[in-house]
Amino acid sequence: MSEVAGQFDNDIDVEVLVIGAGVVGIYALHQALDAGFTAQTLEAGEGVGGVWYWNRYPSARFDSESYTYAYLFSKKLFDEWRWKEEFATQPEIESYLNHVVDRFDLRRHIRTGEKVASASFDEAGQAWVVRTEKGSVVRARWVISATGGLSVPNYPDIDGLGDFGGQAYHTGAWPHTPVDFVGKRVAVIGNGPSGAQLLPAIVDTVEAVDLYQRTPTWTTPLNNAPISDERQAWLSDNFEDIVKTLSASPTGFLHEPAGKFSSADSAQERQAFYEKIWKSPGFAKLTSNYYDLTTNREVNLEFCAFLANKIRSIVKDPVTAERLIPKDHLFGAKRPPFVTGYFESFNKPNASLISLRETPFVRVDATGIETTERHRDYDIIVFATGFDFGTGALTRMGIRGREDLDLSTDWEDGPSDFAGFSAHLLPNFFFPGGPHGAGGGNYPRYSQDQIDWITKTLIHARDHGYDVFEPTAAQQDQWMTMIETLAPQSIFSAEHSHYYGANVEGKVRKFLLNPGGRAKLHEMLDEMTSTEDFGGALSRANETAHAG
Ligand code: NAP
Repeated sequence: MSEVAGQFDNDIDVEVLVIGAGVVGIYALHQALDAGFTAQTLEAGEGVGGVWYWNRYPSARFDSESYTYAYLFSKKLFDEWRWKEEFATQPEIESYLNHVVDRFDLRRHIRTGEKVASASFDEAGQAWVVRTEKGSVVRARWVISATGGLSVPNYPDIDGLGDFGGQAYHTGAWPHTPVDFVGKRVAVIGNGPSGAQLLPAIVDTVEAVDLYQRTPTWTTPLNNAPISDERQAWLSDNFEDIVKTLSASPTGFLHEPAGKFSSADSAQERQAFYEKIWKSPGFAKLTSNYYDLTTNREVNLEFCAFLANKIRSIVKDPVTAERLIPKDHLFGAKRPPFVTGYFESFNKPNASLISLRETPFVRVDATGIETTERHRDYDIIVFATGFDFGTGALTRMGIRGREDLDLSTDWEDGPSDFAGFSAHLLPNFFFPGGPHGAGGGNYPRYSQDQIDWITKTLIHARDHGYDVFEPTAAQQDQWMTMIETLAPQSIFSAEHSHYYGANVEGKVRKFLLNPGGRAKLHEMLDEMTSTEDFGGALSRANETAHAG
């Protein structure tokens, strides 16, 4: 690694530079090294783990089954890591990711505490020049920016936010020293998966906690369980089948599909079915539900009515119960939290719900928060207010491509990309897990598809003498047309979902997932790889092959 900025020659320091040592970045590094490339990782945090390094708030945990979220590239790894629970906690996940890094001798290739400040494509040298905030410079042939879709915390725009004199934390940038909640007056702002996980974890410790809710959520029980010896043995014995199922599943889960449309059941049978769904684990409420749950509004409304009655039956105060019931979106239109004990928390005498729809924020001051109702004093404010999803990290990294493309301005009206991990005018730059990457579902399964394809592409390029990969403008247009055509069919709400950027004030509302899912992704990638030069996306550095 060169330590002197601006001293360019035609040499590269490393063939593959990975940015980020989260779930995706660790896998990308492993695969690049395994394929025989020289590779290095720059990681902003002081440790590895990505979201599982930063989101260390109490009770942060998976809501995808641990063994379906974990790596599947090694049966030995799968067998030797014994997950304690179906849905593991953050400390266990962070330990697992550290184990993987050590188990595969990756740590010596990872440089932590190195936040990337800029990445520019040097056309003359056909290399990326990546600079960090500390002043390190790396020249790389290929960059894999595994910087994550949930890595830039979003803060609400409230007057006086900086004036608060107590402790303030964002769930996505949680401190490493434990936060002492004992006897504290706490405000939690936000009730997405993070806020909903945090509330039950602290309610019995704090003196009082107020949860500030803007939009109610269709939260349902996680239904977690310990992994028994028998279950562990079954997982190990069925590894190959599990991998096959997870690789083919559109959502990347093992959940049994319902096998039927709602019309197959009578009204009474449907209620019994919804009871079964309520008791099912995590995302099975979506993936094992009726086939037409997300396409038939009446079915979804019936399921919502069932959930509303569940909330009414759990929450003792009827006014609070009504406030907790979503009135403006269907189940699944926002990514639902799956959490144990969320609604039950509001039965505790020290927990209150504050509806920001009824009494919006006025300001934050030195001692607390004022709404249009009144002022409340706090010792701690927790921002569980989510992230600048999809584009947040990439548009803040100073990325400059060919023809002086500046990604931060180029994506002002929404991201344009190919396959959710590459873009025209960004040669040799991949961003797995970026916008239009995942289709909704178990995130690492989508990212694994992407990394596997990227690695194969690098090997193919090496074997056939190509040194540049850049999707053509036509290939990108075809992909973006697919996104724009299919996005309206998605269940996610443009008005409410962070998958449309709706949670970030001033952010353009554009769909940020891949509405075609894994099937479309593979179809379009297969089309690209049907010719040796990937339909013109691959070229040699000495060719002027950028016909676009
Ligand atoms: P989120 O789902 O985006 O929720 C953010 C919350 O903050 C929402 O309730 C939002 O209200 C509220 N909020 C945002 N800006 C606000 C403002 N200006 N004023 C008042 N309220 C505001 O964020 P998250 O809970 O951190 O979850 C983000 C993603 O992380 C999830 O979708 C999931 O993919 C992942 N996650 C996963 C787990 C897990 O179980 N594995 C746990 C946590 C997070 P609105 O709804 O009105 O926007």
